[in-house]
Amino acid sequence: MRDKIVAGNWKMHKNAEETEDLLNELINKLPADAAVHIIVAPAFVNLASAVQHLEYTNINVAAQNMHQAESGAFTGEISAAMLNGIGVTSVILGHSERRAYFNETPELLKNKVDTALKNNLLVIFCFGEELKDRQANSHFELVEKQLSESLFHLQEKDWANVILAYEPVWAIGTGETASPEQAQEMHAFIRKTVEEKFGPSVSQHVAILYGGSVKPDNAKEIFSKPDVDGGLIGGAALKADDFVAIVEAAV
Ligand code: PEP
Repeated sequence: MRDKIVAGNWKMHKNAEETEDLLNELINKLPADAAVHIIVAPAFVNLASAVQHLEYTNINVAAQNMHQAESGAFTGEISAAMLNGIGVTSVILGHSERRAYFNETPELLKNKVDTALKNNLLVIFCFGEELKDRQANSHFELVEKQLSESLFHLQEKDWANVILAYEPVWAIGTGETASPEQAQEMHAFIRKTVEEKFGPSVSQHVAILYGGSVKPDNAKEIFSKPDVDGGLIGGAALKADDFVAIVEAAV
């Protein structure tokens, strides 16, 4: 049995004060002993304070991005070692917004994955098809390509530190959700694809999260599917009551 994971991607929302308020609400309202791994990903400038704030809780902190180089003359960028150094435990890589607006390519993501793992960060790797791919019935092929281009060079041992997040682009921030059946169908395909390349011990242990307009009223049904191991939550992660309800749906 794989543990359930619920991660909240706060994107470019919440200033320092709002971050503290939301964290306090989450600390007060989230079940302290829930058998669910809880992760929040505030903006870079609020990561250090979030780590301190959450020190004695079961909530872990992720970054939303990082640079692929270990260090260097990359003005404005943040390295994996810097994140690790302040107690951030994981990093979201490959989010569709980074692919679309910041030209993140499969090759770049491959490098970012390697650097994150080398610096002991857990990678939450996002991928998923656009609406046009689904309409053309090429969504399975596309997802397989995204996995193979950025993750198939890994060693079996690396997979202990990788979480997959299937996020159909047409469902992100749109209010349109993949049906629980569509999510299960794709998650089963992803697990089979990983199994064919790395074997059952990797495929049976890797967590595959679903992301795309997960809300309190649809979370339970989606999370109940056998290959859905939790969710990556955008909009609903910004409201404590909604995020708490989604975590409870995963229990
Ligand atoms: C996301 O951006 O990863 C996401 C899943 O967003 P939303 O839940 O708002 O669709």
